[in-house]
Amino acid sequence: MDELKACPFCGGNDLDVRDEGPSFSGHRYHVACGDCWAKGPLTQEQDKAAEEWNTRPGEDAKLKEVVFAAWREGYIEENTTAHLMGIGTSELYRMLDTEGELDPEGETGDEW
Ligand SMILES: [Zn+2]
Repeated sequence: MDELKACPFCGGNDLDVRDEGPSFSGHRYHVACGDCWAKGPLTQEQDKAAEEWNTRPGEDAKLKEVVFAAWREGYIEENTTAHLMGIGTSELYRMLDTEGELDPEGETGDEW
């Protein structure tokens, strides 16, 4: 089983995969924090419970934002960026286009 990440709510490491007991669809597991009683998503396998617990959508979004910005500033290669964001390079450029359209100080500024 993967190592459990610290609790996102209290930073505690008193973590356990707990068995919620049998239901008609089988046992259900989730990771629980012994410090603040936060609970991870319920799953049907212990490994999956750990995996879900270690998945932090908020962190991922933040990471992507940072990586994308670094690429736009020219700090990292497009291949590295695409890899870190888990997307293809064409998707990367499409995101760049979308950003341009949303930018109020875009290219149309001087036309008048
Ligand atoms: Zn906690």
